Amino acid sequence: MDQRQLFLRHVAQTSQAPMLVEVARAEGCYLYAPDGKRYLDLISGIGVSNVGHCAPEVVAAVQAQAARYMHTMVYGEFVLTPQVALATLLADQLGPTLDNVYFVNSGSEAVEGALKLAKKFTGRSEIIAFHNSYHGSTHGALSVTGAPGLKEGYGPFLPGVTFVEFGSHAAIDAIHEGVAAVIVEPIQGEAGVRLGTRNWLYALRTRCDITGTLLIFDEIQTGFGRTGDLFAFQGLGVIPDILLMAKGMGGGMPIGAFVSRQEVLQVLTHDPVLGHITTFGGHPVNCAAALAVLNKILDERLVERVATLETIIRQELNVPGVLELRGKGLLYAAEVGEFDRVLRVIARCLEHGVITDWFLHCNTAIRIAPPLVISEDELRDGLRILAAAISAES
Ligand code: PMP
Repeated sequence: MDQRQLFLRHVAQTSQAPMLVEVARAEGCYLYAPDGKRYLDLISGIGVSNVGHCAPEVVAAVQAQAARYMHTMVYGEFVLTPQVALATLLADQLGPTLDNVYFVNSGSEAVEGALKLAKKFTGRSEIIAFHNSYHGSTHGALSVTGAPGLKEGYGPFLPGVTFVEFGSHAAIDAIHEGVAAVIVEPIQGEAGVRLGTRNWLYALRTRCDITGTLLIFDEIQTGFGRTGDLFAFQGLGVIPDILLMAKGMGGGMPIGAFVSRQEVLQVLTHDPVLGHITTFGGHPVNCAAALAVLNKILDERLVERVATLETIIRQELNVPGVLELRGKGLLYAAEVGEFDRVLRVIARCLEHGVITDWFLHCNTAIRIAPPLVISEDELRDGLRILAAAISAES
């Protein structure tokens, strides 16, 4: 059996029609197949490779830390330099109310930790979440995910979760003194890139302050420069009580975090002790990678490139087959109207060496989320192939 057949036989599948791109290596904005065919990655491995694939600084940090020490003891007991340096640099960037970091392995685990933390800190059990949200695939995260289709067959879910309309006044009115947390993506990603307005997010913030509810921002997809600020909340000027991150954080290594202030996070340390524990969370090699990612973003001012690159997306996708172009920074959805058309466009792009995708809750739009390090020419070339595919399929 060849590699693809072995893959189909022995690697558990998540869909009945996998893309089956065989990857021999990856570098910068490109993936390379064994036969040398090159693919421009316009989705950054779904929001992960913000600093590009195999960024030399990240590879060097991983190699150096792997040779120094890897896993030593479950998270939170030993003093490990890569964790300390990363938490300190993050705290520096996030400001005085987001200065205590709990490292985990993935986005879903950050969501799980944050939900537990909010319940424990407030002594309340109710959660408010939003229709069309996506927070992950584990049971708690799926419980606050507002997509009935994705949840079929996996219930029952966590009790006490109320779903409200993203951007609505009803959402503000739903927050009361029994609500532990509101969990929201300031920009909904998997809904097909829907932007929360500053006024609405500010109204959520204000209502949470009045009711003593913790406001959780899931920036797992929008973080690390993706939308033109290091984190979207910084551009919006609305500060959450708990910030969630993962995806782009490790430059390709698996790491996430939930971040709050020390007064909040310290409730995990007592009554009972070990309120949230994780064997591999904050793995030194992953923290070293994440430190290299954040340093690269800051040193090379990658966030400042985003506005120019965004202009290119707006220019190149201003074509008849694109019915609506939604997004911010380097997170865009190009509406093409039908799922079949989306699939044909993706296939045509793949043939021409460009990787795109759709969205979990929006299968009528094409996802555009290139690495922040993409050159203007690379982006233009990739988008022209995409625009041509959309025209051809319209
Ligand atoms: N929250 C958001 C907003 C996401 O986009 C994702 C992943 N698509 C997750 C949570 C879950 O992250 P993970 O797949 O790392 O568990």
